[in-house]
Amino acid sequence: MHTYSGVGVTPGRVVGPVRVMPPAIAAPPAGEQREGTTTAEAAAGNLRSAAAVVKEELRGRAAKATGDGKAVLEATALMAADPMLLKSAVKLIDAGASAQRAIWEAGDGVAAMLLDLGGYMAERSHDVLDVRARIVAQLRGVPAPGIPDADAPFILVADDLAPADTATLDPAKVLALVTAGGGPQSHTAIIARNLGLPAVVAAAGVGELADGDEIFVDGGRGVVTTDPGDAEREAASRWAEQVSRLAGFDGVGRLADGHRIPLLANVGGAKDAVAAAAANAEGVGLLRTEFCFLGHDTEPGHDEQVAAYKGVFDAFPGKKVVVRTLDAGADKPLPFLTDATEPNPALGVRGFRTDGTSPGVLARQLAAIADAAGQSRADVWVMAPMIATADEAASFAALCTAAGLQTPGVMVEVPSAALTARHILDHAEFASLGTNDLTQYTMAADRQLGPLAALNDPWQPGVLALVQATVEGSRAQARHTGGPGRAPKPVGVCGESAADPALAVVLAGLGVTTLSMSARAIPAVSAVLRSVTAETAGSLARLAVSAPSAAEARSRVRARLPVLDELGL
Ligand code: PEP
Ligand code: MG
Repeated sequence: MHTYSGVGVTPGRVVGPVRVMPPAIAAPPAGEQREGTTTAEAAAGNLRSAAAVVKEELRGRAAKATGDGKAVLEATALMAADPMLLKSAVKLIDAGASAQRAIWEAGDGVAAMLLDLGGYMAERSHDVLDVRARIVAQLRGVPAPGIPDADAPFILVADDLAPADTATLDPAKVLALVTAGGGPQSHTAIIARNLGLPAVVAAAGVGELADGDEIFVDGGRGVVTTDPGDAEREAASRWAEQVSRLAGFDGVGRLADGHRIPLLANVGGAKDAVAAAAANAEGVGLLRTEFCFLGHDTEPGHDEQVAAYKGVFDAFPGKKVVVRTLDAGADKPLPFLTDATEPNPALGVRGFRTDGTSPGVLARQLAAIADAAGQSRADVWVMAPMIATADEAASFAALCTAAGLQTPGVMVEVPSAALTARHILDHAEFASLGTNDLTQYTMAADRQLGPLAALNDPWQPGVLALVQATVEGSRAQARHTGGPGRAPKPVGVCGESAADPALAVVLAGLGVTTLSMSARAIPAVSAVLRSVTAETAGSLARLAVSAPSAAEARSRVRARLPVLDELGL
């Protein structure tokens, strides 16, 4: 029995067989020639058969898949049979190239041509690059890249996941997710929470695991164990029995004394919003609009944007929906806004800053949001990502006013915004703490990097102090502008920290007014919030902020929340 420790991001205990996500396919060396003994006809024949196998395999998977996954697999299967791709590869084979090199270069050529065509065609360029990698894998006799296919459920072990992998990750097949890389705020963690998959990230050494190994995953404690024994199997079956206790939410986030903390959902589009409404989320606290357009190489048109936003608004008539304007950059590049060659993308032209380098995109997005809001019954609020100064907040608010949007807000993700919230809130109607980025910038630790997971922990007292500073900034702003009776402007949290039930108590105790998270996390957060009064939450918050370390903050608070153990969280 061997144990790997990582960071638990979604609670849940399961036992199952491993399937390892194959590594990306490396490019065949430039200039690689056909071997002297292989004729051009034979090489072309090998290539055609490999492409046919890939096509059939993708078709087979598409037939069994549903939703987005089905669409992605069908589009990729079509590309495998694309005559232009194969024709240009065969031409290169005739000129002496190896079959692998030929399909690789042909893929580059077709992808570049599709990119030039723009719009829908440009989006297909990703499918071409995916398909050529699959054909090369087939020619090499190695596993195809991407989420593996299997008939029986499995525990996915990967180095890391990209946002694009979500489409083909079937939650009915994947029992749990374990990654060597990623941090608790990485997009892998966000994907796992959205799907409600028990998950452990930053588990160093799990690369040693092999297909078929049986393992136990404890997503609450962040532990992975090989060769599970009776104790692990029993823990897994206890979890399976009690998971139904956390299945529902009645639509009212509150503490034990009735103090209201509305619980909202983080969504990436209409599909998530419909699911969140069905789960009784009280609204949307974060619509990540860039998720509607991932993979787009050009700015989405007005009508396309209106349709995407309206799909979300229509799921929440009469309820609050907070739309975040495009947050491109670093881990979420959008080619029409960000420069892929920046040396330091997390500190680069991203979020609201792209308004300076790509003027007009934000104003057009706000116009589309306003149009969609006008056609729906949702109470639409808008906020800008990566605001660092009061001047930026003022510019954003002016753009919102020009678009006819009444409730402009800011995300607090940069320490300077937390420390100057009092001035920023002179211009914005609310603040929403993006603790994922706030943690990475406070601790100077890239949220994507597994080895920095311990720094990248929203329980770090430095991060909690900035949450407290933001709430205090809002209270000071109210005192300065409206006298003692004036209510402070709302300060919510929409980072992943809100989905950690123990940390949610601390955030409530610090005075945060709403919590927004993956809809799947709401029932557990609600159950734990209901076990404490505002007074207890306040004293737990003080304990956490004054702790000398993240580990100590977490253990002090968890020790005083017995409900966590009762619920297996
Ligand atoms: C955050 O940074 O906490 C946040 C909610 O935004 P994202 O995770 O999309 O960067
Ligand atoms: Mg962010």
